[in-house]
Amino acid sequence: MSGHSFTRVLIPPRKLVVITAPSGAGKSSIVRKLLQHNADLAFSVSCTTREKRTGEEHANHYHFISVDDFKKKIAANEFAEYEEVYPGKFYGTLKVEMDKIWNQRKVVMFDIDVKGALNLKKQFGNDCLTIFIAPPSKESLINRLKNRGTEDVNSLKARIKRSEEELSYADKFDKVVVNHDFDTAYMRVKNNITNFLKPQTQHVH
Ligand code: 5GP
Repeated sequence: MSGHSFTRVLIPPRKLVVITAPSGAGKSSIVRKLLQHNADLAFSVSCTTREKRTGEEHANHYHFISVDDFKKKIAANEFAEYEEVYPGKFYGTLKVEMDKIWNQRKVVMFDIDVKGALNLKKQFGNDCLTIFIAPPSKESLINRLKNRGTEDVNSLKARIKRSEEELSYADKFDKVVVNHDFDTAYMRVKNNITNFLKPQTQHVH
C-alpha cells in the first residue's frame, strides 16, 4: 500500500462547433439564431483587419485591429488559426477567446472560412464538429452577395471568386446542410449540434 489516494479530476471536454460556408451562403444568420437559442454555445469573436461595416461593434462582431497588431499576434503565437481570407485582409481565432469560453463550461461556436474550419478540425478531431452550409446553387450565392450591398465592386468580385472556390471543399466537412430555406437549414444544423453534444451513453443489455 502506498498510502496515497488518487483523486480523479474530471475535466469537461473542450468542444467546438464550426459553421463554415462560402461567403453568401447564409451562415451568419444561422449562427446568430443558434446563439440566441442555445445558452451552451458562445461565439468566438475573431480578430480582423478589414474595415468595420455599419452596425458592427468592436469586440462583439470582431476585434477590429490593424495589420501591424495582427502580425504581432501571429509572431506571439496568439492565434489558434488565422487566414488571409482576402488580399491584405486577415482573420484569426484567438486562443484566449476559446479558453475564456471553455472556462465558462460552454461550447465554442465559430463562423469562419473553410480553410480555418479544416485547420481547427485537424487540431481538435472528434471534439470538433464542422458543418458546411451550401447554397442551393451558384447563382443564388452570387445574388445573395450582390443583394447584401455591403461591398464595393472589387470586393464583390473577390468574394464571388472565393465563394466559387470554397464550394469545391464541401465534401471535407463532417456535415453538409443545403440552405434551400432558412428554417429547414437551421433545424438541420441545430439537430446535428444536439447529436454532437449528447453525452455518449453505453447501452448494456
Ligand atoms: P466577413 O468579412 O464577411 O465578416 O468574413 C469573411 C470570411 O472570413 C467569412 O467566411 C468569415 O466566416 C471568415 N472569418 C471570420 N473570422 C474568421 C477567423 O477567425 N478565421 C478564419 N479563418 N476565417 C474567419
